[in-house]
Amino acid sequence: MLWNHKFKFRKNNYTAGHIIVVLLAFSTPLLIGTPILYWQSGKALYRKAQTASRATVNHVDSILDNAIEATEESSLLLNKPCSEIVEALRIKATTTSFIRSLIISDQGIVYCSTVYGEAKRPLNVHYFHRDRLALLSGNIVTPDRAILVYQLKKNDTSVIATIDGLHVIQLLNSNEMTPETTLIVGSYWMGRDGKVHNTVVREAGKESAYASSIKYPFSVQSGYGKGALLEYILTRHLPLLALLVALGGLSAFAVNRLAMSARNMTAEIKRAIRNNEFMPYYQPVVRSDTQEWIGAEVLVRWAHPIEGLIPPDNFIPFMERSGLIIPMTTGLMERVAKELAAIQKSLPDDFHIGINISSAQLAEEDLASQCRQFLEQFPAGKVQLVLELTEREAIEPTEELQERVGHLRQAGVQIALDDFGVGHSNLNYLQEFHADLLKIDRSFVAGIINSDLSQHVLQSIIDLAIRLNLKIVAEGIETQEQADYLLEKGIHLLQGYYFSAPVPVETFADLLQKHKTAKS
Ligand code: C2E
Ligand code: CA
Ligand code: CA
Repeated sequence: MLWNHKFKFRKNNYTAGHIIVVLLAFSTPLLIGTPILYWQSGKALYRKAQTASRATVNHVDSILDNAIEATEESSLLLNKPCSEIVEALRIKATTTSFIRSLIISDQGIVYCSTVYGEAKRPLNVHYFHRDRLALLSGNIVTPDRAILVYQLKKNDTSVIATIDGLHVIQLLNSNEMTPETTLIVGSYWMGRDGKVHNTVVREAGKESAYASSIKYPFSVQSGYGKGALLEYILTRHLPLLALLVALGGLSAFAVNRLAMSARNMTAEIKRAIRNNEFMPYYQPVVRSDTQEWIGAEVLVRWAHPIEGLIPPDNFIPFMERSGLIIPMTTGLMERVAKELAAIQKSLPDDFHIGINISSAQLAEEDLASQCRQFLEQFPAGKVQLVLELTEREAIEPTEELQERVGHLRQAGVQIALDDFGVGHSNLNYLQEFHADLLKIDRSFVAGIINSDLSQHVLQSIIDLAIRLNLKIVAEGIETQEQADYLLEKGIHLLQGYYFSAPVPVETFADLLQKHKTAKS
């Protein structure tokens, strides 16, 4: 609303509900955004791990391809004494990439090696996974350096190629961004640090991916340790996280402002009720045939000390939602009774006074007694109180409600259905509330001269009113042409700027006097 920005916020009186709502507004973007971010980052990390493990498998495959080549060629030299073949073996070992040494064994006994020449020591066959590949933490030559051992077996003899573990360690450490990668051969595994373990493969985190070589009996696992996902989110998606926090802050700010302004509005209206700032304006209701002023509709205005005169559409809906409409109407009715009682001598007898009531108020217990008190301010037969029922929300015509309407009738009050033809007021309401009057909304009147549709709607309302024996008031008459048309159609009562805009009581009394004098 235009005018509430000037109201000062009151300090230090946040309610628990207010704080909860603001906190919720703050955390909602984070609550929705973080899981999505978490899930997406998890997927991204998994894809990285997949790529890393596949790439590592391919690299190790191509290293081992050299071992195949060296061992297959060397196998042609089997069954010859070591002294005859060791030279050829040494040449082969030094000219093949990655190969450190070649060894030949027969029936589990090593008899020739490129390092020691002729030898005689047992070959430990347990190391070999599927008889082909072994990952060892070291050998006699280099006990502290991992080696990969490839065996080509032909019956009882085998040719063995050793590959320095450093090549693989370099591979595992090749890219800083890749996840922790582990080479696994049977029950042995080696990580980035180059240490060979013979334990169950360690947990590599949720985002770990596994790839096996098709050619050789080994596999590779790539994954992330604890906290890697969080670190990834914090480094990669910090701007997005910041945006979520900012969004939360923004929505918390907006919700806080809204809640504050609603509370300010409530406080402001309560203050205005106490200070009698809600004042009635009166708009005449005129007989269509004689042009006599037979009544007036009371239309509230808020005479705000700073904002000036505020029209009802700016605060009535809020008052209806907050329940403040009830004390406001009570005060307004008291004021109307006082103001009109003061000028009652100039009022014609049976003067209709229309008061706007919203549906929720109809259920109020003391509305009937308020109406009685209102009527008690005037001599019998002086005024006719009409409650104009405005329909912003549908009301359910419960038994209790009908009982209340009965009490109002006993108090001598008439019921008018306001804005008939728009909103929820319909035929049902007419029957349930035993209305006495129909007020045709000014949107229909605006169209009657030019629009066939408005004319049709008007005609059907008139037909209905005749059948139900109801009086009709047409609102929003702005031209003589409209007034004439409606008179011709048999509408009894008219209201609109053509006769007078809503005015304060003094002006109303003056206009009423002038009108009477002009007529006589
Ligand atoms: P409403 O009951 O339909 O009142 C008629 C509205 O039409 C008034 O607007 C009036 O000033 C305006 N009007 C009258 N003649 C003409 C005309 O010839 N041409 C045009 N264009 N407009 C005309 P207002 O005073 O701004 O009131 C707006 C609405 O606020 C009212 O509509 C009514 O629903 C509500 N309202 C006003 N006072 C009260 C009140 O004390 N209590 C409740 N619950 N509602 C009220
Ligand atoms: Ca009205
Ligand atoms: Ca209306």
